[in-house]
Amino acid sequence: MNTDDNRNRYNTMSGTQNTRTTQTSTDMGRTYTQQTGMIKKKRKRRFKPTKEGMIALGELFLIIVAVFLVIFLVIKGITSSKKPGETTSDSTSTVPVQTTEAPKPKWNAGYISLGIASSGKGEGNLVLVNNDHEFMFPSKMTSKLTELYGKTEGLFVLGRYEDASRRGVYLNSGMLPNLRKMCEAMIAANKETLGPYKDKDGKDALDMIMIASGFRSKDYQQNLFDDADDTSFVAKAGCSEHHTGLAIDIKIFTAKKATVDLRAGEYEWITENCHKYGFIRRYQPEKLDKTGISNEEWHFRFVDIPHAYAMKNADLCLEEYMAMLKSQHNNTEDTPYEVSTDIGDFLIYYVPADVADITYITVPQGAKLVSGSFAAEQNVTSGMYTVSGTNEGGFIVTIAK
Ligand SMILES: [Zn+2]
Repeated sequence: MNTDDNRNRYNTMSGTQNTRTTQTSTDMGRTYTQQTGMIKKKRKRRFKPTKEGMIALGELFLIIVAVFLVIFLVIKGITSSKKPGETTSDSTSTVPVQTTEAPKPKWNAGYISLGIASSGKGEGNLVLVNNDHEFMFPSKMTSKLTELYGKTEGLFVLGRYEDASRRGVYLNSGMLPNLRKMCEAMIAANKETLGPYKDKDGKDALDMIMIASGFRSKDYQQNLFDDADDTSFVAKAGCSEHHTGLAIDIKIFTAKKATVDLRAGEYEWITENCHKYGFIRRYQPEKLDKTGISNEEWHFRFVDIPHAYAMKNADLCLEEYMAMLKSQHNNTEDTPYEVSTDIGDFLIYYVPADVADITYITVPQGAKLVSGSFAAEQNVTSGMYTVSGTNEGGFIVTIAK
């Protein structure tokens, strides 16, 4: 999300609100002036304790009340229009504006309506990137990337290439703690293949998990595509999930310093357990017609824990999952999709992005926006929520029950 864009939108919004307030106060001021004129005429008769005099006094009292009301509304307007500006100082992908104009179907009775910047529809943990949905490369996204090299503390090794353009693996910083947890669990569960084991010389040997690829620039993907013999494994430039920094290719780096694919045991373990860490196995052979990419046993995508559970439970790829939310759990009128995970239960629904600057969502009163992912939270409590763009025209809202 481009924070500057948000700030501009907010300034624009605040400006609109201020203008509206000013108009109101100008109107009220005109009323005041006109009525004061009337009072001056009536004041001449003030010394006579007549009924008209009493009416004039009454009018004067009403005018004073009206003036105080205008002053109160102006001050309130200024105070509330400052709040969103303060919210934009963090790097969250959505900047809520509260409003009371919420649709109230049964399931969200008591919820409040929040406005989010429609421009954020192309970013977030759930962006769909494939040959039909090109990634939009939000201008601030590279600031969210972390180079893995030197930050793994012996847990897993990274590909280092002679070609300078390929040096280093960068990933979305928010998913690193979960990647680490997943790798630790995978190492603990796969001692038979990963070691420690005795090699043929009787020495202790240890294979390691290798993150062979992370973030890719558009130029880099173009080179990959141009060099590929078989493009059924390679996405077009702009259409690779690796552009998001949320996709990883996992391989094994052996004690003999050979790079090999995931082996039996390791492959089963990660396919069976990656959802607990917020990852999905993105490309499976039976989903080729939906994803456009052949079976890739090494490619995993971070989508956050509730969605990884949901896709695994229902055996849906990201394309199918998004289509299901869009058609059956769309907007605030339909009942949300519900999923249970080992970090809590969640409600999930889809909202199409508004053509206007602001798209409205509904969340529980007092809801707390999670700026990264539920996977990165120490404690998930009721009312915490995330919003992610889908990169196909909408947002997915996820609320902890
Ligand atoms: Zn990949």
